[in-house]
Amino acid sequence: MAKAVGIDLGTTNSVIAIMEAGEPTVLVNNEGNRTTSSVVAFKEDQRLVGQVAKRQAVLNPTGTLFEVKRYIGRTWDEIKHEAERAPYDVVKGEDGGVRFVVGDKKYTPEEISALVLRKMVDDASTSLGEKITKAVITVPAYFNNSQREATQNAGKIAGLEVLRIVNEPTAASLAYGLDKKGNETVLVFDLGGGTFDVSILEVGDGVFEVRSTSGDTHLGGSDMDYAIVNWLAEDFKKEYNVDLRKDKQALQRLLEASEKAKIELSGLPESTISLPFIAMDPASNAPLYLEKKLTRSTFEDLISPLLGRVRGPVEQALKDAKIGKDEIDEIILVGGSTRVPAVKKIVKDMLGKEPNQTVNPDEVVALGAAIQAGVLIGDVEDIVLLDVTPLSLGVETKGSVFTKLIERNTTVPVRKTETFTTAEHNQTGVEVHVLQGERSMATDNKSLGRFKLEGFPPMPAGMPQIEITYDIDANGILHVTAKEKSTSKEASITIQNTTTLAEDEVERMVNDARAHAEDDRKAREYAEAKNQLDSLRLQAKKVVDDAEGATDDQKAPVLKAVEEVEAALGTDTPKERLEELTKELAEKLQAFQQELGAAGAAAGEAGSAAEADEDDVIDADFKPAG
Ligand code: AMP
Repeated sequence: MAKAVGIDLGTTNSVIAIMEAGEPTVLVNNEGNRTTSSVVAFKEDQRLVGQVAKRQAVLNPTGTLFEVKRYIGRTWDEIKHEAERAPYDVVKGEDGGVRFVVGDKKYTPEEISALVLRKMVDDASTSLGEKITKAVITVPAYFNNSQREATQNAGKIAGLEVLRIVNEPTAASLAYGLDKKGNETVLVFDLGGGTFDVSILEVGDGVFEVRSTSGDTHLGGSDMDYAIVNWLAEDFKKEYNVDLRKDKQALQRLLEASEKAKIELSGLPESTISLPFIAMDPASNAPLYLEKKLTRSTFEDLISPLLGRVRGPVEQALKDAKIGKDEIDEIILVGGSTRVPAVKKIVKDMLGKEPNQTVNPDEVVALGAAIQAGVLIGDVEDIVLLDVTPLSLGVETKGSVFTKLIERNTTVPVRKTETFTTAEHNQTGVEVHVLQGERSMATDNKSLGRFKLEGFPPMPAGMPQIEITYDIDANGILHVTAKEKSTSKEASITIQNTTTLAEDEVERMVNDARAHAEDDRKAREYAEAKNQLDSLRLQAKKVVDDAEGATDDQKAPVLKAVEEVEAALGTDTPKERLEELTKELAEKLQAFQQELGAAGAAAGEAGSAAEADEDDVIDADFKPAG
């Protein structure tokens, strides 16, 4: 049977694993290592990948590409600030994406990631003695559509069939929970090189259900490295008036030395950073040395602002899962940065429980991905994997209201259909505006795309039945379909990477929604009051128009009320007044219908669409049916 591997494509390191004799097993690379540095270097006409690329980074700072995962699937505008601090050249691509420039060549993040994937798969094929063609690749839970698709494309460029993109924390708990029998609530705390993810899952009886996820894509071990770099560089600048960060080679050496010191401090109380010939003295032209001792407590001071940032996502994840910290049965640590003692301590302080340390934080994600690969090719049975969507998805309806179809933290794959209708008479089409976010009004959320459903016959407002279906597949990619039921006309969209949603944007949106909850509620209630009055106005006009036996005198009170309503709808009328007008118009309409009914002329109910005027204008106005 074809072999399928699981790959943890990490920011700093990547790991590949496979199911062997019913157990997930890490595969070593050609250098004999269980992890492969996610680094690619171009040197003359050589292309180096992994440890060899990392090792020559200092001598080749502009030709060595690392932390490429930070850029994958992002637009230049989202990432330009991070690009500034990289020792290599990053520029804006013609498509608004990111390009790495090495010599006279430009590379996309997908191409570079593909080289890392290719090396891992080739090495694994060698050690297994069998060609590998299929893989499950993991991504942070907070990766948006665009980042997931770009990762999938990296796999394709590497010649792999990507069976599935799986969230890293989900993979971790999969590896952890394989042997577990009872039901447990697990919190996965994943602090890697570049990203932080926290997820809460229900694990038991072979079922993994993600209850909530949260995180920060701009927080990881490399931020700790930069904190040390800045501390060293500031000090050096004060002493010698030379900013080492401006020299790419010096910056690369500082980064490596800082990472080394950080790792040492996980086991030792202090570490000495020693960098001979780091710069030339501008005054004397003599070589300058950097030698400095870093204690664990100074290091902890340096990273304390970074550590503080893990609290928010943890609290958010608990809140979204609707559980208290006491209900967490197990805490799993994932990612190399959880080896920092201060990180373990903050997790314990926050959650009041020792994290489980039996699982290797560097390998657990790849092991879980291997299990998932095994499930997908039928090697592993009795496991169901359920993931969640990180933000709510919905559609813009009349009055700029954001109507949610799928709530955030809903388990995927998921398919939801709701029926909408037109808000105006004789609409022959609608525009479906797909949005993502937590705010009540469409304009405050993120637009993912729009499409038109047109060509159905003119009908009175409220009559067309437009079914809108949101379908998120197992890879977290969204397909939206709209169908008008009477004609079966259909239109759809797959959300491509036209717009992307950075995780800081996700956080901002969730926080904004909380901060503006009261304003949003008012805006929504106002829009709803206006919509209700407008619907009633349309209904009233139609009833009057269709009431053939009615005299002008009988119609007059309703038409007068309609006129008043139209004036009110055109201005910023207070909500209370809109409600009064709704009540008044409803009463007048009821009286009119009663009078007419008494005269036996209630024939005018549902009017014929054929009599309606043709109106070909596509109008975005539509609303939930019923
Ligand atoms: P990952 O993305 O999970 O491979 O995590 C890589 C990050 O973990 C890098 O920033 C490493 O510097 C960091 N790291 C690895 N080992 C340790 C350690 N023993 N102590 C502190 N940080 C570590």
